[in-house]
Amino acid sequence: MTQRPEVRVRFAPSPTGNFHIGNLRNSFKALFNWLFARHAGGRFLVRIEDTDLARSREEFTAIILDTLAWCNLSADEPICFQSQRSDIYAFWANELLARGALYRCYCTQEEMRQRARGVSPSGDEYFFYDGLCRDRKDQPDKPFVLRFRVPRDRHDIVVEDLLHGTLRFPLSAIDDFVIVRSDGSPMYNFTVVVDDALMQISHVLRGDDHIINTPRQVLIYEAAGWQLPQFAHMPLILGKDGAKLSKRDAATSVIDYRRGGILAEALCNYLVRLGWASGDREIISRDELVHIFSLKNVGVKGAQFDYAKLLWMNGVYLKDMDAHDLMARIERDIMPGFRQKVESLRDEQIACLIRLYQSRCKTLYELATYLMQLAHVPELEDHERVQMAPVQQDAVQELLHWLASTTPLTIDLIKQYLQTYVAERNITLADITGPLRRALTGSTSAPSIADIIVCLGKEESIARLRKL
Ligand code: GLU
Repeated sequence: MTQRPEVRVRFAPSPTGNFHIGNLRNSFKALFNWLFARHAGGRFLVRIEDTDLARSREEFTAIILDTLAWCNLSADEPICFQSQRSDIYAFWANELLARGALYRCYCTQEEMRQRARGVSPSGDEYFFYDGLCRDRKDQPDKPFVLRFRVPRDRHDIVVEDLLHGTLRFPLSAIDDFVIVRSDGSPMYNFTVVVDDALMQISHVLRGDDHIINTPRQVLIYEAAGWQLPQFAHMPLILGKDGAKLSKRDAATSVIDYRRGGILAEALCNYLVRLGWASGDREIISRDELVHIFSLKNVGVKGAQFDYAKLLWMNGVYLKDMDAHDLMARIERDIMPGFRQKVESLRDEQIACLIRLYQSRCKTLYELATYLMQLAHVPELEDHERVQMAPVQQDAVQELLHWLASTTPLTIDLIKQYLQTYVAERNITLADITGPLRRALTGSTSAPSIADIIVCLGKEESIARLRKL
């Protein structure tokens, strides 16, 4: 094969049942592949490995594709589905069989178990295949698998991994592995190699749980005469104390983070930082990441997932985002129908309130909750009115008058008015703002009264204060 002209990488998730952990880990792998491609001006491809019909589900595929879109990790070519490529795998299996790289094996599990008894009393369900059918010439009318004829005249397979350096795999530890099952379905190691070769993948950047498969895949490349890609095996995401992802983390898919109000930008920044470093910097924009990303700074130790840090990063992103953008995201990610639920407020009022509250929130969900509360200020209880001190009752009356007669209302004017008001009466702002906040926002802790009044506008503020 001729030299590949460019960097071509792929993200190849299996849409199987364990998508919860997979989803978070998958996003991690997708991101690194995407960044690697974008940095090199190459191509990022997506391949759905859905050959395991028993475990693959379309809804998991939909979630993966939706998550990629949400994270803004677009593929540069149409998405490839392994389930639609059986003919291609069958063709190459026959081809390799004809070349003698594969052979038919008629041994049943039971026969292998019996033969292994003397060798491996552990009772494992996997038996190192002893090669009985390797040189078999007859073709009995019995079910068979196709096995790879592992060369026995070499010692090691050596792979230069871009992250781990030289990896050496003794061939004596690799048996003649199955390429096609007896029902005709191809095995993972085979489909991956066929696809990576035909898709002209230049770099296989994947989780280090696949290191163990790499020597088998190298053997298939060699037998088919295909050019090897470069391999880079990335660390997996671990739980906070370096152990496996905990049940809690594992049970959380990207969809749950999204519904919980994590922003795609923050999650992606966080995940990249988890496995890669550029000095001590935490917040790095997507454009800059593309610019500076390099495999050199990818760690090879498992990266520890820390939800508290993700939350902190989310808050940092949230506080600088455009209010209208956030409004649209609340509708899309947190609360479909949100706009109707807060229809008592106009778009400008909501945007203004978002600007007031976004820096107080760690998640979009929290922000949406504030907005709902602001749109649905509960009726005041009778006892709240009765409990108002005379000084507070006066303040409400006076403020109502003043508001009605002042146009236009600005933050400075309102602040000035309130300061003069308390100074003249020798009281403090704290003496009067409790009920005002409560009437305007439904809560007693809120941004400044002046800010709130300007956001809600004159009419709405007067209507709310009148209820006092
Ligand atoms: N489908 C495999 C997985 O989801 C990835 C295969 C590969 O990257 O080679 O783990």
